[in-house]
Amino acid sequence: MKKRILVTGGAGFLGSHLCERLLKQGDDVLCVDNFFTGGKENIAHLMNNPYFELMRHDITFPLFVEVDQIYNLACPASPVHYQFDPVQTTKTSVHGAINMLGLAKRTKARILQASTSEVYGDPEVHPQPESYWGKVNPIGIRSCYDEGKRCAETLFSDYHRQHAVDIRIARIFNTYGPRMNPHDGRVVSNFIVQALQNKDITIYGDGSQTRSFCFVEDLVEGLIRLMNSDTYEGPINLGNCGEFTMRELAEKVIRLTGSRSKLTFLPLPHDDPRQRRPDITLAKRKLSWEPSIALEEGLWHTVKYFKQLFGDDLVEKIS
Ligand code: NAD
Ligand code: UDP
Ligand code: UDP
Repeated sequence: MKKRILVTGGAGFLGSHLCERLLKQGDDVLCVDNFFTGGKENIAHLMNNPYFELMRHDITFPLFVEVDQIYNLACPASPVHYQFDPVQTTKTSVHGAINMLGLAKRTKARILQASTSEVYGDPEVHPQPESYWGKVNPIGIRSCYDEGKRCAETLFSDYHRQHAVDIRIARIFNTYGPRMNPHDGRVVSNFIVQALQNKDITIYGDGSQTRSFCFVEDLVEGLIRLMNSDTYEGPINLGNCGEFTMRELAEKVIRLTGSRSKLTFLPLPHDDPRQRRPDITLAKRKLSWEPSIALEEGLWHTVKYFKQLFGDDLVEKIS
């Protein structure tokens, strides 16, 4: 029997890869998206598949459909986009979670929340295990995202305790790959686009802050394993343990693209976490999951994607 699977945010970067994988494994996919940061071009190649359905809808409003599983990915994920309309960002995480949990409660569907490493804030424990409660500013410019996602985790936990909703919570660490939005300001897409144009690479702060980057295919595999695991509901960290400074990332991108770009240093945004690396002991043990694609290889695929996307007139089309 085909499973009917709802993917909210399915026209986004991660969502489009997830929809593609679910269709490949024989499921029936309903993609719901309001196209705030996602786009039809991300799912254009799926539109002719009879088991793929697209619905324009904002999850801050109720949704009545019949499904067996729900992946709740809808939410702008880059600082530039989630800070554009911060009230809507919190509404998407909080009202959106309430609606999707209400839907899961009524249909008895299992529901997975795309949570984030941002729930750890600017962490004092390194690397971050799931047991760490985080250090998050509740009133800063990142709070709409961080606190929205924390509240969504609370709602998921309470719907589970109070209404026996079958939940899964994934704490996703920085993920990159083809179909990243070139305008959303995330570091990997920014650096690659800048390098391909031979423009200055914009390093915020002195570039000594660290992140751990997971390739999208590895991440999607982790999400599907968590959803289908009957032994653990989470929260569970999904991310790559390789940790790099932003300076190291810039140098890798310059090397890979053969770019003539130079580094330029801009002010560090407020509340920008100093360091971030997942402890994935739990994911290894409970899901037998760990990433298999190293940063160089993943960056190579991503560079290839951006080259194809913009073709020869890279400069004109991007700027
Ligand atoms: P993305 O911006 O590409 O995708 C988000 C999608 O959600 C977009 O298609 C957008 O149009 C849609 N959306 C936003 N608000 C909506 C609303 N109210 N109703 C319906 N659709 C809405 O981002 P992404 O990187 O694909 O992230 C997907 C999810 O994974 C997000 O929830 C994000 O918080 C989480 N996540 C991503 C990362 C990462 O590094 N990519 C890390 C941690 C967590
Ligand atoms: N909801 C939804 N789809 C459904 C069932 C519920 O969007 O299939 C919404 C519903 O409109 C409500 C929210 O989910 O605002 C929470 O539902 P719940 O049943 O928990 O709360 P109640 O309806 O009792 O307020
Ligand atoms: N960053 C940077 N240059 C850019 C974009 C981002 O140096 O052009 C830095 C940013 O300050 C942060 C890191 O790269 O320290 C990761 O930023 P991103 O927005 O990709 O993810 P997040 O901060 O949400 O982890």
